[in-house]
Amino acid sequence: MSSPEDPRLLVCLDGLSWAGYFQQSQLEPNLSKLLSGRKSVTVRGSHFQSPQAIWAELLTGESWTKNGVYGYGVVTDSLSNVQIASEKNLLVQTNLDSLSPEAATLIANVPLLLPSGKRIWLSDGSMPLAMRYFPPNLEISAYRPRPFFSSVNILSAADLECFLEHELARVAISLDILRKHSCRLAILRITTFDCMFHAFGNEFCSPSFRYCSSWRRFLTKLSALLSSLEQLVGSSNTFIFSTYAHVPCERVLDLNQLLARNGFLNREGNRAVKGSRTQALHAVNPEAFRNAGANLYAVDAGQACSPVEGTIMLNSKSRFLNGVVDDSAKAHILSEIEKMLAAEELPTVIHRSENTAPSYRGPELVVSGRGLAFSAREQGDFREDWTPRTVHYGEGFLLASHERLEQLPPYLRLKSLHRLLFTR
Ligand SMILES: [Zn+2]
Repeated sequence: MSSPEDPRLLVCLDGLSWAGYFQQSQLEPNLSKLLSGRKSVTVRGSHFQSPQAIWAELLTGESWTKNGVYGYGVVTDSLSNVQIASEKNLLVQTNLDSLSPEAATLIANVPLLLPSGKRIWLSDGSMPLAMRYFPPNLEISAYRPRPFFSSVNILSAADLECFLEHELARVAISLDILRKHSCRLAILRITTFDCMFHAFGNEFCSPSFRYCSSWRRFLTKLSALLSSLEQLVGSSNTFIFSTYAHVPCERVLDLNQLLARNGFLNREGNRAVKGSRTQALHAVNPEAFRNAGANLYAVDAGQACSPVEGTIMLNSKSRFLNGVVDDSAKAHILSEIEKMLAAEELPTVIHRSENTAPSYRGPELVVSGRGLAFSAREQGDFREDWTPRTVHYGEGFLLASHERLEQLPPYLRLKSLHRLLFTR
């Protein structure tokens, strides 16, 4: 058995289900070698789709009503002011830094986490914020964060090569860092699979994919790098996992439109949802905002709105600067909204917050469903007619040595995955 002092390597392949991982390994023989000798369990993930909310639960081991993060952003002093969520918004602290007080923690492309102290932090352009960061004390001039555009707009073979090269460079540099620096924990989140699903849908998993030879080359190189990483830390210290998969999009739901149709919210032109994600998106993609003015809702003037995808929040007087809902009216409005959702006969599950503390600023209701996408407007983007090929779905997997997974049931929740990955 490994000692608590041994470095632990967490390789996250978000976007892949177990079946998806298996599919990839059939495309690439070296990837399938990584499977051998390991045990797998299914991870039953979050009902949220945003990686920030999923990782908040994984990093803290607590649900959204306790950890305070329920989407890519969190609402601040008004429902129109949404800030990109980071670990500063967590109401429950992670134990990452205390896991290795004497040594560094390598963090590559993990949502929420920020550079600090002993963290060696490699940023990435697929993160939903315009932030670039190079670890200043390391001689790794070859490291370049992947440009935001290469993650969302893979239009040509050259774009794809550039996108894949960036990912490989980051994994190669991570390997170099682990060889040269004393790290107790390394979290490498590889978002290539997630981005490929967004760009190509299921198509990239097939041998007839038009860029299959580039993709196979990438998988071969990635497999070799992952094998080297595993050799460095030992197989019992290596955990390969994903927290969500992609499923085909069945329906796009615009919660604000639904709330407006039922009188909880009004349309109002030329008011933009404030917040740094919107600004960041605007900076990189002004085209998406061309028609924004006419299609916005006065989210901080109505009784309720969906400020962040999948959530519904009451515009409470006691919580928000422009609040209009008295505390005494909340229960009635909420039950009216629940009736409205029930009448839609959506293939969804409605989750009610059990946190009723006056200081709690999270959503009252969360809507989730397999194959359900939320309007791009709820995500700070204003394109009309937006239908994604696939959407995130809360099911992932964990692959680890038999000794690590011996005692575990076939299904793990994020809370249990947290205990397994982040405690010693
Ligand atoms: Zn994604």
